[in-house]
Amino acid sequence: MKDGMSPPIVGIDLGTTNSVIAIIRGGHPEVVPDANDEVIVPSVVLVDLDGKIVVGRDARAALVAMPDRTIAAVKRKMGLPDTVQLGGQSWRPEEISAMILRKLRTHVELLFPDQEIEAVITVPAYFNEAQRRATKEAGELAGFRVERIINEPTAAALAYGFYNLRGERYLLVYDLGGGTFDVSVIRMSDGALEVLASTGDRALGGEDFDWRLVDALAERIMAQAGVDPREDLAARATLKEVAEQMKWQLSDKTTAEASVPVLMMHNGRPVRLDAHVTRKQFEAMISPWLERTMQLVDEVVQEAHLSADQIHDLLLVGGSTRIPWVRDHLTNRFGKAPLNTVDPDLAVALGAAVQAGLKSGQIPESTMVATDVAPFSMGIAVAERDWLGRPIPGFYHPIISKNTTIPVARTDRFYTVVDNQTEIEVEVYQGEHPRVSQNFSLGSFLVKGLPPKPAGVEAIDVTFRYNLNGMLEVKARSVSTGEEMGMVVQDALDRASPEALEKSRQQIEALATTLVDQDDEVDEDAVIDQEDDAQIVDDGAASQGWDALVREKARLVRELAQIQGHKLVASARQWIAQLEEAEASGESERLEAVLNEATDFLIDCQL
Ligand code: AMP
Repeated sequence: MKDGMSPPIVGIDLGTTNSVIAIIRGGHPEVVPDANDEVIVPSVVLVDLDGKIVVGRDARAALVAMPDRTIAAVKRKMGLPDTVQLGGQSWRPEEISAMILRKLRTHVELLFPDQEIEAVITVPAYFNEAQRRATKEAGELAGFRVERIINEPTAAALAYGFYNLRGERYLLVYDLGGGTFDVSVIRMSDGALEVLASTGDRALGGEDFDWRLVDALAERIMAQAGVDPREDLAARATLKEVAEQMKWQLSDKTTAEASVPVLMMHNGRPVRLDAHVTRKQFEAMISPWLERTMQLVDEVVQEAHLSADQIHDLLLVGGSTRIPWVRDHLTNRFGKAPLNTVDPDLAVALGAAVQAGLKSGQIPESTMVATDVAPFSMGIAVAERDWLGRPIPGFYHPIISKNTTIPVARTDRFYTVVDNQTEIEVEVYQGEHPRVSQNFSLGSFLVKGLPPKPAGVEAIDVTFRYNLNGMLEVKARSVSTGEEMGMVVQDALDRASPEALEKSRQQIEALATTLVDQDDEVDEDAVIDQEDDAQIVDDGAASQGWDALVREKARLVRELAQIQGHKLVASARQWIAQLEEAEASGESERLEAVLNEATDFLIDCQL
């Protein structure tokens, strides 16, 4: 419980479009407005002509007219080594985010004068190490003590009160904001919240809808007045504002009107805008984006190994979920309406405050343990043998698979590749591609002093530990000598050379734009030079034949069948059914995936 001495703690939704701060008061989360009673702060920063930093609504108003003095959606750049030019100065994305956080801090400073303030800040479930670390740094630059970084869907579930319920429920969090779309499936079981699967599109949101409507309005004006208003900066800014307001109207009404007597001047005459748009027309304009969100909804439910009718509750987050199409289509797809007890603009901040309150004891201790899911696979570079037995480097062996429940610790064993190999380089990567060159490098370290032995004799155990704050610890231990080396991945980007940083940046950008389509062919030129003594070979993947998988499956089924306890038995039965189905499919990849997840479940049961 609260000891009266602990510092105040806040929850912060640091959003791409808007940001919100919340606290716990009287045992309940509540958002905190600024002196003008504004709760939602547009995540836009302006350096004005006097060099003063302005954050929020006024900065947003200057966005289109003063593009070189304003910056929006800096969240997209978090964790990248890019700098942002603003008012003739260059800034790191962390510094810009810190300005937004500092503005939010002013909302609560009157409540907590001259005190250190702790913060729980949310990030999208897909954020990687570098992005989480950058967010933490931004919080610290803004003067907060960052207590925890949590995933946005987990925060949303907390806001909807899913932290002290009994029994097992599956929740789908559909988050459509201004610039991004995220969808996650969360399992709520005996007070534990766990993100089972998460996906999304980092370049899909309400802004796209505004600009689509701007295009439609501009085309009408071009047909009438023979001029493209998008080429005039001020007219473009006005059109964008008009489009967004029409979009909002269309969430409440089936038609929207707009009239601007002088949008711009052309050949000495005023160009006016008179627009009438129906909801049907607007929906037709934006349906490719909306349909894509539903496709991702289907994918995430599948990835969580559930069917639509197993989802108990639908939670809406983000301003764009006010568009009626979203609610209607989710209702049709799941046979139930989304919950509407929490304002979708505030859900994430309120949930972050709940997490803060649980931490500080302001919300009474419940049995809740907020667990989460690894947003990417993490693993190391290995060599695999070709059909002549020659080791080929550059393959990726994931040790923690994407969507594994965290915190997690996992160890895999690897062997030396060449005779008399005395060193092993452990290269750590994050990503999903079978070749490491297409994944995101997190750093590397050497394990030295191995006794010279024939290839394949010396064994090395590599352990990955991934915690709730998204920090990865890697250790490698020589089985024969006990010699151990390791690294904590949060420094990986700092240590990298500028070239490596640039490479990582490009890689992460490639990762961000959905799947990379790369040639998986083994490169014959890449056969390891037998003198190269810093490689390891993957013990598992190459030798893991179908029979071994089936044997492992039988063993797991036996263990699952012995599980006791009312609620666990139901889950264990589901896992047994999934294992049987995976075996019946004859697909080793599928069976391996289910085996890994069922093993996680068993480990969780034993914890
Ligand atoms: P968020 O990123 O969650 O703050 O969401 C901001 C986005 O929600 C912006 O694109 C807004 O235009 C959009 N939005 C806010 N209210 C509405 C509404 N009533 N109807 C449609 N979109 C809205």
